Amino acid sequence: MRPVRECACAATLCRATVQRGQVFCPDHYWSLPEAVRRAIPNAFRAGQFAVFREAVAEARDLIDAREFQPLFPGEAA
Ligand SMILES: [Zn+2]
Repeated sequence: MRPVRECACAATLCRATVQRGQVFCPDHYWSLPEAVRRAIPNAFRAGQFAVFREAVAEARDLIDAREFQPLFPGEAA
């Protein structure tokens, strides 16, 4: 594994890099339900990091559940 210098999209199967302070790449971010999309920055701004982490985990689970199929055969998820 190479060292991570850039932030990667939090979606398990996504290799897009994102800017500092962003959790998901734009494609994944905008694919999320609005409530989830809002919960993440709201919790972050409020300094509720436990809530923030949970919101991110929930969002990632939503994306993973949708994408959990071999996109690239032979490549383990
Ligand atoms: Zn992504």
